[in-house]
Amino acid sequence: MIRVGETDRVFVLTGAGISAESGIPTFRDSNGLWCGHSIEDVATPEAWRRNPALVWEFYAMRRKDAAPCQPNPAHKALAELEAKMGDRLTLCTQNVDDLHEKAGSKSVLHMHGWLFRSRCERCEKPQPDANAYASLDAVPRCPCDAKGKAMLRPDIVWFGEMPFFLDAIQDALQRTNIFVCVGSSGVVEPAASFARMARSFNRAKTYYVGPEKPANDFMFDECFTGKAGELLPGLLQSH
Ligand code: NAD
Repeated sequence: MIRVGETDRVFVLTGAGISAESGIPTFRDSNGLWCGHSIEDVATPEAWRRNPALVWEFYAMRRKDAAPCQPNPAHKALAELEAKMGDRLTLCTQNVDDLHEKAGSKSVLHMHGWLFRSRCERCEKPQPDANAYASLDAVPRCPCDAKGKAMLRPDIVWFGEMPFFLDAIQDALQRTNIFVCVGSSGVVEPAASFARMARSFNRAKTYYVGPEKPANDFMFDECFTGKAGELLPGLLQSH
């Protein structure tokens, strides 16, 4: 159990593992492959330039698969923790699904973007996803371009792009004294370094929750081995 006192500040980083029990495969579960393409081949700016319809179709399928998924007890435990702790909790996710929001979390730093949003590649304006599920011959266009050339792209941080909210994340890591990572293999940067940063900024205690030790396990004071949905409820005891 992790005791959270009245003045403690907690930073929780979640990865694909927290959504595994809700039926969304982790990167590793899918062997990093989709329809014979490596995920790096469909989740990069180069892939988008080369073949936008293929990239759009990849995300359309991920949306279709993720839409019916429901939050599990781990997502719910974090929403309940936020209700108790307010802004002393920072919840940051590498996931692009919406299961934290479906569980009731109000404030989530989606550092890798949102599966259910698109944005114009030219004016950057986010767009609701009227065509989210279509498998398209023509990728949807943004109304900002009268000539109809500005394509909508998934509002996702692709490999090689800068994650969102890095200033807010650094600010929160500087103030946190309890850092908890849930279900992340610890290989994708910069998230893989957050535990080390929390330790060096503020001597935070660092914890990991997941069925196996992550690649960056040396950054953690303690690893709780097991499934997030079974371990997380009751793990953080706040007053
Ligand atoms: P990863 O796939 O590299 O690692 C998943 C980790 O989750 C593994 O360490 C595994 O041991 C652990 N895990 C598996 N089942 C678990 C469970 N029931 N409870 C707790 N942990 C469990 O994921 P990553 O480190 O998040 O990095 C992969 C990248 O792929 C990220 O950038 C992420 O955005 C993206 N991704 C997102 C989703 C999503 O939005 N749900 C899904 C797959 C991949």
